[in-house]
Amino acid sequence: MTEDQKPSGPDLTKGVGLSDFKDGKLLGHVGEEDVLLVEAGSEIFAIEPSCSHYHGPLAEGLVVGDTIRCPWHHACFSLRSGEATRPPALNALAVWDVTRDHDRIIVQRKRAGPSTVHRGTPTPDKFIIVGGGAAGFAAAETLRREGFAGGITMLSNDGAMPVDRPNLSKDYLAGNAPEDWLPLRGEEYYQDAAIDLRLNTEVSAIDPKTRSVTLGNGDKLPFDRLLLATGAEPVKLQIPGADQPHVHTLRSVADSRAIIKAASSATRVLVIGASFIGLEVAASLRARKFEVHVVAPEERPMQKVLGPDMGDFVRGLHEENGVIFHLKDTVEKLDGTSATLKSGGLIDADLVVVGIGVKPRLALAEQAGLAADRGVSVSEYLETSVAGIFAAGDIARWPDPHSRQTIRVEHWVVAERQGQTAARNMMGKRERFDAVPFFWSQHYDVPINYVGHAESFDDIAIEGSIKDRDCLLKYRKDGRVLAVASIYRDLDNLKAELDMERSRA
Ligand SMILES: Cc1cc2nc3c(=O)[nH]c(=O)nc-3n(C[C@H](O)[C@H](O)[C@H](O)COP(=O)(O)OP(=O)(O)OC[C@H]3O[C@@H](n4cnc5c(N)ncnc54)[C@H](O)[C@@H]3O)c2cc1C
Repeated sequence: MTEDQKPSGPDLTKGVGLSDFKDGKLLGHVGEEDVLLVEAGSEIFAIEPSCSHYHGPLAEGLVVGDTIRCPWHHACFSLRSGEATRPPALNALAVWDVTRDHDRIIVQRKRAGPSTVHRGTPTPDKFIIVGGGAAGFAAAETLRREGFAGGITMLSNDGAMPVDRPNLSKDYLAGNAPEDWLPLRGEEYYQDAAIDLRLNTEVSAIDPKTRSVTLGNGDKLPFDRLLLATGAEPVKLQIPGADQPHVHTLRSVADSRAIIKAASSATRVLVIGASFIGLEVAASLRARKFEVHVVAPEERPMQKVLGPDMGDFVRGLHEENGVIFHLKDTVEKLDGTSATLKSGGLIDADLVVVGIGVKPRLALAEQAGLAADRGVSVSEYLETSVAGIFAAGDIARWPDPHSRQTIRVEHWVVAERQGQTAARNMMGKRERFDAVPFFWSQHYDVPINYVGHAESFDDIAIEGSIKDRDCLLKYRKDGRVLAVASIYRDLDNLKAELDMERSRA
């Protein structure tokens, strides 16, 4: 440990008083390890202070019962066991035994961490998961964590193991995260957990009658329960020249790698579409010092989801960082490296990234005859119209008790949480999916957190200052707050999530 990495706060083995706590928390150390003391009701817990997802500071998190939620991406941990109880965290945190001697609180022994794989009673059941993304991975992991001891086969047409997909447009693309940070788990995890992960494996059909899937090579695999988690794919640009090799979309590791490779010899970048992914790509490629142009038809980026004031802020933020916008405009054709705009302008760009939205991959569901409505229709248990076949993640449209609508979203945390619920229901539990939707987006050093779901809104109540990057926006419809977005008001965002959970229908 170097001089500037000194452990935090007081030595907790010597004891601290409750009066030393601030807002129910105290950061100290045991030996060289930082430890967070948390007061929850009449109990005191000692837990590792950084979230196991992206190391968010739990000292700034929200305590709910005997759990603590991370301020950055709303992961949740049991204060008793350290177990990650809500994505996006996967790994447990260390916890320590705490003793009380009158009003002194003393931290002692570190406890052994909980196991991520529980061996249940062996069963001949065969579960198939189609898709190796957020939802598919979370489902497989949950099945093993909850003791399912039958067969789990995860089929993915991607060549990469399940990865941290949000990173593909952020730190990885910007060159700030090495590729070995991307996999959610290493190869040995799948072996240890007896999850038969088959990569580069296309599922071409599902037969609900014979309960089998057909693979691209013609092989058939039987299943007792199936989870469809095929996610979404980028919408293709339908203009002349869009099929040229320097025109990219971004969904997979291979896509992100291809953009990085193309960037090594590019001089100017054109991003088509001011979507979340489009703008994150713009920010990451600015970090690589490229001239970046963004062409999009809307008046303000992200206005539809975040409203006009936040839209103006996002635009200003990107402009401060050197992005050149061409708004209320579209690209009509790509002729070699020359992009012709509807307004008549020309942009010369040797790297083009198209970020004009995604659409759910519905082909398998439609072929199998599953009910679909702009997504695979599922019940509150995430079961499709065919018993025993579940769907989760970007393809699923579910009855959301908060917005009181059926909705489909494209959020990492929602996909993971749905994967978990679907897994439990595949095991025969009847767990409703009622999590409040949450997503985040990162532009330069500015994170935007959004909780809830507002397909449309009547007005936005703004607390604080957007321009000063210290704000909370409440999206209201018919007098109800449907969603809340924030910049650097993470605790308020967590509280808004809790309010929504407590007021659900
Ligand atoms: C670049 C990028 C950045 C993002 N950033 C954020 C963010 O900051 N915050 C946020 O909340 N969300 C973000 N998202 C969205 C988030 O990643 C998705 O909501 C999430 O990945 C959805 O999970 P999923 O399991 O439904 O689908 P996916 O993760 O896409 O997984 C689908 C899987 O199905 C496989 N598959 C598809 N068809 C078949 C088939 N026929 N046979 C076999 N396998 C098949 C695919 O190969 C893939 O493995 C981002 C998305 C991208 C692309």
